[in-house]
Amino acid sequence: MKIGVLALQGAVREHCNSLKACGVEPVEVKYREQLGEIEGLIIPGGESTTVGKLLVKHGMLEPLREMGGKGFPIFGTCAGLILLAKEISGNDQPRLGLMDIVAERNAFGRQIASFEADLDIAELGPEKFHAVFIRAPYIGKAKEKVTVMAELEGKIIMVRQDNLLAAAFHPELTPDLRIHRYFIEMCR
Ligand code: GLN
Repeated sequence: MKIGVLALQGAVREHCNSLKACGVEPVEVKYREQLGEIEGLIIPGGESTTVGKLLVKHGMLEPLREMGGKGFPIFGTCAGLILLAKEISGNDQPRLGLMDIVAERNAFGRQIASFEADLDIAELGPEKFHAVFIRAPYIGKAKEKVTVMAELEGKIIMVRQDNLLAAAFHPELTPDLRIHRYFIEMCR
């Protein structure tokens, strides 16, 4: 099974390593033609404005939006979550706009740009998930079609909507593979 990692900018290699550790072949996706070779796509963290512009430049924004709308599995982490959101608070940057969520960028404040937290994620079992947040967004609003998978201090930070998964943190930066495995199951 092949799963793509969008390789225009950001934490690409770490996601590839996590996929390999799960026994899946990662494909670094840089060109539109590669979208036909994969069974799902991870959009890594980075700078969502830059990745959005690069998606337009590489002619991938429209095809990906269409695929995502037809059931193709996409997992967005951090900047990837922002790109999946239909609404980005106070911002009209390019995006896929597939999930019924409102993303709040850099929402945990400038002073605490990065932090770590142990999360309860029922779908992954009773053991807490150690999560790394880097200038992370949160989800200000999730509409009824969206399943909230995790919250932190009352803020929504992980959601699923059918074939789409989004997390405000970086599961590729910790050795716990449960979230990658969860997404791989969505791709089967
Ligand atoms: N702050 C970034 C943005 O708004 C996201 C940070 C990240 O992906 N680690 O695009």
